[in-house]
Amino acid sequence: MIKRALISVSDKTGIVDFARDLAELGIEILSTGGTAKLLRDAGIKAIDVADVTGFPECLDGRVKTLHPVIHGGILAIRDREEHQKTLEELKITTIDLVVINLYPFKETILKEGVTLEEAIENIDIGGPTMLRSAAKNHKFVTVVTDPEDYKKVVEEIKVQADTTLKTRYDLALKVFQHTSHYDALIASYLGKDKDILRETLTLTYEKVQDLRYGENPHQQAAFYREVGPQRGTLVEGIQLQGKELSFNNINDANGALELLKEFDEPTVVAIKHTNPCGVASGINIDEAYSKAFEADPLSIFGGIVASNDVIGEKTAERMKDVFLEVIIAPDFTKEALEIFSEKQNLRLIKLPHIKARGEKALDIKKVGGGILVQDTNKALIEELKVVTEAKPTKSQLEDLIFAFKIVKHVKSNAIVLVKDKQTLAVGPGQTSRIWALKNAIKNSQHILRGSVLASDAFFPFSDCVEEAAKEGITTIIQPGGSLKDKESIQACNEKGISMVFTGMRHFKH
Ligand code: 5GP
Repeated sequence: MIKRALISVSDKTGIVDFARDLAELGIEILSTGGTAKLLRDAGIKAIDVADVTGFPECLDGRVKTLHPVIHGGILAIRDREEHQKTLEELKITTIDLVVINLYPFKETILKEGVTLEEAIENIDIGGPTMLRSAAKNHKFVTVVTDPEDYKKVVEEIKVQADTTLKTRYDLALKVFQHTSHYDALIASYLGKDKDILRETLTLTYEKVQDLRYGENPHQQAAFYREVGPQRGTLVEGIQLQGKELSFNNINDANGALELLKEFDEPTVVAIKHTNPCGVASGINIDEAYSKAFEADPLSIFGGIVASNDVIGEKTAERMKDVFLEVIIAPDFTKEALEIFSEKQNLRLIKLPHIKARGEKALDIKKVGGGILVQDTNKALIEELKVVTEAKPTKSQLEDLIFAFKIVKHVKSNAIVLVKDKQTLAVGPGQTSRIWALKNAIKNSQHILRGSVLASDAFFPFSDCVEEAAKEGITTIIQPGGSLKDKESIQACNEKGISMVFTGMRHFKH
């Protein structure tokens, strides 16, 4: 039976109504400074915690409820005789309902220009301690930290003068999720400028939305975000129209954005199953889109397109004729939006800071029994070195770098063929490098003569060079570093192909 409640909340939403309901049910209310004043002002009787402890709130509120009379009252096991005896001896009265929400640490660290001192002042100490005491003793004590739960708790007390054990268990679970997230946020904030690969890893994610299903319809799924603004990521995106994003949409869109961030000039990226199928730069977005579409007019069907500049009327007209799942751009003109409004299922995502590259970020991969963590692959080239007799021309070199930026984002083993800043062929995800090249060539809808080739990792043999020569490919970019580099270089020299080493490998899995 709930006889006594302790209420101490920072977020005072709904607290007056809740406390009034409790008071009307005959429950005695203890409270801390600000909360007690609010309740009294609303005509609700509240006893100061200081009067119960016989100890004043002190040190700017750092110490209010941290007292054995409070924690004994919460933690005592009600059906253990010894505990009851102790309560009597020490004149401790039990507390059966604890209503707490914490200092707004998250809101504080998200404020522009927040200082370390301000953040630290907003680390709640007594609140989590009481929450944890009550949650530990949930067999007897009800603990509420979310104003959303006030109503349910009152309803139950009205019926049986107490909550059900199931409700108390669920509320306790919610508390430990909340306090662990709260502490994790503190650890993340304090560690934000430290080495990212610490001994223990604290990950803090909050649900954005449940998804209809996962990669496949029989898999449950949800989308979680990191706390903070996350500039230039999908989390910041504003959906202007279309169906809700799916699990695969989000994954593909992320792939599109990561690749797009390699480019400053007007560029469009088309993605299928996280691999690019068409990428092109142009003098403007309209040209870039036309080229990205022409790159592979077949695979773009059902794809995701990302543009690093505003999409206007002309491009929208072209895009309208293709079945696309998602279009992402920093913005869309009014005319473009009107054109797209005819295709209500098409998802349009506005992402104002589309070129923003995240700060220190972790790249996390789930494996059975754990996770693999690395920093994100931000670099591109260690050192450019021409290793053949023939040298690439200036425009070939531009295409080589363009192609290398793309191949970095293609699943390994990966080969990309490019001409005039347009992909002509993409060969993703093969177990052998030569197959990646052969697939790229086989599936290309273009004449490859005069194109440039990029490989995500070194050539183990000279077979890729031989194959490239047959197609009339004129220049190659690859990391180099194979024991058999010499053979590939020799093959290039024999065929009059130029080759550039980057010194940096870009596996992607
Ligand atoms: P009030 O507005 O009632 O003065 O303060 C409510 C806030 O104080 C709540 O967020 C609660 O978690 C927090 N709180 C309660 N007891 C203590 C304590 O002993 N130390 C600290 N630092 N915070 C407390």
